[in-house]
Amino acid sequence: MKCPTCKHKITKVIDSRPFGREIKRRRKCPSCSIRFNTYEYVDTESIPESAAREAK
Ligand SMILES: [Zn+2]
Repeated sequence: MKCPTCKHKITKVIDSRPFGREIKRRRKCPSCSIRFNTYEYVDTESIPESAAREAK
C-alpha cells in the first residue's frame, strides 16, 4: 500500500476493523507521518470457513 502523499512504498497499519464487507484500515506513513484510511475488499469466498473455525 503506497502512501497517497509521498508515494512511500511501505505504510504501517495502525488499526483494522470490519466495515461492512470490507476492512477499514488506518495506516500511517513512516516517511511523511500522514495518517489515512483504506477500505479493503474482503474475498467472501474465503471467509465462511475461517469464520466457522473461529466460532468454535
Ligand atoms: Zn508518506
